[in-house]
Amino acid sequence: MSLRKIVTLPDAVLRQMSTPVTGVDNSIRSLMDDMLETMYDAPGIGLAAIQVAVAKRVIVVDVAKREPGEGENAEAIVEKKNPIFLVNPEIIRVSDEKSVYEEGCLSIPEFYAEVERPARVKVGYLDRTGARQELEADGLLATCLQHEIDHLNGVLFIDHISRLKRERVIKKFQKAQRLGKL
Ligand SMILES: [Zn+2]
Repeated sequence: MSLRKIVTLPDAVLRQMSTPVTGVDNSIRSLMDDMLETMYDAPGIGLAAIQVAVAKRVIVVDVAKREPGEGENAEAIVEKKNPIFLVNPEIIRVSDEKSVYEEGCLSIPEFYAEVERPARVKVGYLDRTGARQELEADGLLATCLQHEIDHLNGVLFIDHISRLKRERVIKKFQKAQRLGKL
């Protein structure tokens, strides 16, 4: 396993459409392992392959990762790890009910904004072995899955906020890039 470099705004790669994976082989499993390690290292709760400049429909998520509570040690956190590897994920169904979470993105460091999305989703995907799976999610996992699947279509969470806020954050990153800070 190795850490990969995370692509950040305003890199045009993030707007690319990712292509479906034709077979879940060792190269895809190795990509997913690298993505998971990169995500934990960042740290984050979800990562799409396009964020490490690979335009394939692959995401990894783990919303179980969290800070230790009082009286807990680091081992307790490791035990809480619950990674999910999704190849060719597709949203099959969404709830009418919405929920709002403050979202962030490893490709848009240090920017957070509230986004409203369906509260529950049903997602179909291929697992690490290539077997077809379905997952029903609510809460943070539902939001995280929608955020990551958006990435595969070149959509960022800032596309769900007001145009004014979006333009402001894009400008900020463009300026940082010009100044060589990224
Ligand atoms: Zn993201």
